[in-house]
Amino acid sequence: MHVLYYRIEGMLKREEFKINVDPIINWIQSYFENIESFPVKSQVNPGEVLNALPDSHPQSPESIPEIMKDLDDIILPGITHWQHPNYHAYFPANASIESLYAEMITSAIAAQCMIWETSPSAAELEQRMMEWLRSMLGLPNDMEGVIQDTASTATLCAIISAREKSTNHKANFEGVPQVLRVYCSSQTHSSIDKAVAIAGIGRNNLVKIKVDEKMSMDPKDLERCIILDLKSGYIPCCVVSAMGTTGTVAIDPIHDISRICMKYNIWHHVDAAYAGTAMILPEYQHLMKGVEDADSFVFNPHKWMFTHFDCSVYFVKDASALINAFEITPEYLKTETRGQVNDYRDWGVQLGRRFRALKLWFVIRTHGVEGIQSKLRKHIELSTYFTSFINQHIGLEHLTDPILNFNIFHVRESDDIEECNRKTADLLDKINSTGKVFLSHTKVNGRYGIRVVIGQTYVEKAHVDLLINTIKTCYKGLS
Ligand code: PLP
Repeated sequence: MHVLYYRIEGMLKREEFKINVDPIINWIQSYFENIESFPVKSQVNPGEVLNALPDSHPQSPESIPEIMKDLDDIILPGITHWQHPNYHAYFPANASIESLYAEMITSAIAAQCMIWETSPSAAELEQRMMEWLRSMLGLPNDMEGVIQDTASTATLCAIISAREKSTNHKANFEGVPQVLRVYCSSQTHSSIDKAVAIAGIGRNNLVKIKVDEKMSMDPKDLERCIILDLKSGYIPCCVVSAMGTTGTVAIDPIHDISRICMKYNIWHHVDAAYAGTAMILPEYQHLMKGVEDADSFVFNPHKWMFTHFDCSVYFVKDASALINAFEITPEYLKTETRGQVNDYRDWGVQLGRRFRALKLWFVIRTHGVEGIQSKLRKHIELSTYFTSFINQHIGLEHLTDPILNFNIFHVRESDDIEECNRKTADLLDKINSTGKVFLSHTKVNGRYGIRVVIGQTYVEKAHVDLLINTIKTCYKGLS
């Protein structure tokens, strides 16, 4: 991308900020206008970017124009364009212009919002945004929210809170007894495995519960495992249910799981990292049944709610359980306002915190709930359109039922699983090698499937048509 720059070297003064603003804004505008001309998935080979970067650091100052040239020549080819409307891989991290404006202002203010005193507005705006989101999602009023960086961190917070509750707050001081058990389905995200390891509970104490044909947790198997563990002297500590698994967006029976957790006094954490955003739509509210009895709930506005990464929202019923697990107050963090305000350093792992509430404020105000709902519905409609293409294409078949804006399909020309897997993997490779679209994969019961998530902020029907045509062409090229 070619833009003119003023030649200014060395560290700029604040009064000189505007000197490079036009060229940089032009670069961003040009990036947005040209985004569809780039391969969606970066086509560089391992080491290519590294080798293009000098071995040693610069001794004397370099200019912004020199750096911007390298940005175009070295960095940009190694970028996978998550904001490209033909990006349908993994789950989206769909940003928006309004969120970008807020991120620019947040970067200018560059506040570190660890406690109320270090920026009261950050703390109080965060509190209000959590209340707005709670009502947008139909979460119960007795849940309080906090912004975490990612769902992985939020789930770690839930598991540590559950651990502390189960051990009468002893584990933080005396270490973790090796009798605690955590439960999740075989389909839940790897962040649960990571969290039990970090929390000191141990991955061997994570019990993976069977799933049904819809890939949802079997509540009977959950109860059976809990009873077995109790008989063997274990302490069931936490159940993590999924409202939308990563592989296939399967929804666990939240209501049944809540009931079991209440019966055995176990913390119930709902991981709605991706699908949680859909709860803003009244037509999906029925999936929330049982969440009112859960202990905690996480969803990521940075996935499907047009808000820049990172922004994961964690709701907890008993905020004091979270605070008791994480609070440490050295002398230098003592304040006069303690007890009257939310000091969010006590609500998670990090001490230092970014001012993340501002981008939520911009997104929710500029879109309004109606604007967010209409975009989500559009994605779901486009996805349904894609569903009918798969239904009609001979040789392609869904691996699980489509849900929300998600499809997973495979090549099904015979009953030979190995043959189907080889052809599906080959098809995915061919599709991604075109650079026109980007899809990712998973395995369901040993079957290799191609995942398609239509949730990019600026996706239109024409992009889905391009996806369909790319799949058709690549399918014809299979041997
Ligand atoms: N939970 C689910 C269901 C996910 O799909 C993901 C990521 O895709 C995560 C958790 C982890 O999210 P994060 O990257 O915010 O940690």
